[in-house]
Amino acid sequence: MDYQSTRNPSLRATSAQAVLDGLAPDGGLYSMPSMRDVSFDWRSVLDMDTQGMATEILTALLPSFTKDEMRALVKNAYTGKFETEDLTPTVSVGDDTVLELFRGPTSAFKDVALSMLPQLMTAAREKCGVDDEILILTATSGDTGKAAMEGFCDVPGTKIIVFYPDGGVSAVQKAQMATQAGGNTCVCAVRGNFDDAQTGVKNVFAAVTEGKLLDGKGVRLSSANSINIGRLAPQVVYYFRAYANLVHEGKIKAGDQVDYCVPTGNFGDILAGWFAKEMGLPVGKLVCASNANNVLTDFLKTGRYDKNRPFYKTVSPSMDILVSSNLERLLYLMSGDAALVKRLMDELKETGVYQIPDELLQKLHADFWQGYCDDTGTKNAIGMVYREYGYLCDTHTAVAWDVAQQYKAANPDHNPVVILSTASPYKFPAAVLEGIGHSARGDEFDVMERLRNETLIPIPKNLAGLREREVRHRDVIDREKMLDYVLGKASQKEWF
Ligand SMILES: *Cc1c(COP(=O)(O)O)cnc(C)c1O
Repeated sequence: MDYQSTRNPSLRATSAQAVLDGLAPDGGLYSMPSMRDVSFDWRSVLDMDTQGMATEILTALLPSFTKDEMRALVKNAYTGKFETEDLTPTVSVGDDTVLELFRGPTSAFKDVALSMLPQLMTAAREKCGVDDEILILTATSGDTGKAAMEGFCDVPGTKIIVFYPDGGVSAVQKAQMATQAGGNTCVCAVRGNFDDAQTGVKNVFAAVTEGKLLDGKGVRLSSANSINIGRLAPQVVYYFRAYANLVHEGKIKAGDQVDYCVPTGNFGDILAGWFAKEMGLPVGKLVCASNANNVLTDFLKTGRYDKNRPFYKTVSPSMDILVSSNLERLLYLMSGDAALVKRLMDELKETGVYQIPDELLQKLHADFWQGYCDDTGTKNAIGMVYREYGYLCDTHTAVAWDVAQQYKAANPDHNPVVILSTASPYKFPAAVLEGIGHSARGDEFDVMERLRNETLIPIPKNLAGLREREVRHRDVIDREKMLDYVLGKASQKEWF
């Protein structure tokens, strides 16, 4: 099975090339031609451990790799890196099941995919006969950058530069990045907001490609954000993990349907759930939970995507996003119509709006439900879950928890619900402390301590010692200087 652009079926690539390149040359995303091309026996993985499941699922989705190759990559990616052997444990909270995706090296769910991506990328580089060093460029609003650096840290043949908005990330997030170890990692603040950093990165890619600025230099650029199929595929695994756990605990029988509620930003996480469903896992509804930036709630209701609206900075910042890139893959796979997708994406670029055909909207409604929760609702949910069940959740998880209750109230015939938990509460300590009814003024690290003293829930190791760790990255630049900065770094053999 080859991959193809979501906007043009004749632009094809092997799955290894798709991982290496990230984006198709016409700006489309790489996708399998149809989910029917993925053959998979979902029952066969239910009794496996998580690494075994990952091996089977990733080989089915990325057939450039043999099962033996994949097994070794999975082992390298995950062994000893997460708090628990099963990587993504489930816990019962009231009537619901919470799937904890934040037990990895940086306490955010992005660790699941970003631990695996460097393995896939270096193996793909070998398979495609590329000798160039891979230089990853990433713009981050906080979580992705740290998780990506942790994943790529000291992986041979790769280097990574992370740009974040100066003054635009939390103190904890900044400290996580500025203290990053590794001889191949680089962090740089950009004077501007996240969009400036993101646009800057896109401009660097365009300038380097057009001007062939790195040709013959032994370096090529790539990206670690969730448009890369190599970041999406590893996320499919935990939908199976959660389902298998419910079967083993006797909460369901194999074959019963389960609903999943997913706190959503770029639509990568929830799309992985739809992949799981298409691969045969008995998924009922996928519930898309948004914060006040509820562009997806409106879209899934009406079929009209409209990004021309105010942008809110919320207490769940990883979901503050108005253009959800991975939706493009869903539209393509559901319609099978690349010409339609190209037209819609052109309209989005030109006018900020598109409307999908009714027939496609009906298909969306069969698989998805939607809702949103603002900051007040988010903090109320944190307090409510903590008081009722003694469970402390982060702001993103709280959004999903609230929307899951909306979903159950509106759909009395719902299935057992799994709520995806995407970050440790200690990554957003101020909003969480306020949620459980305390003032959170002052230094963010003190707030973290107070949250611990209040709840007695341990602070994850990677966050606990942060204040004392050595700062290794101090660069701050104007956004106009990003290209020079990247070219300078690319010509430097040793960074440390
Ligand atoms: C990235 C992120 C999300 C959103 O995931 P998408 O795949 O972009 O939809 C939700 N919660 C947290 C904590 C995140 O870091």
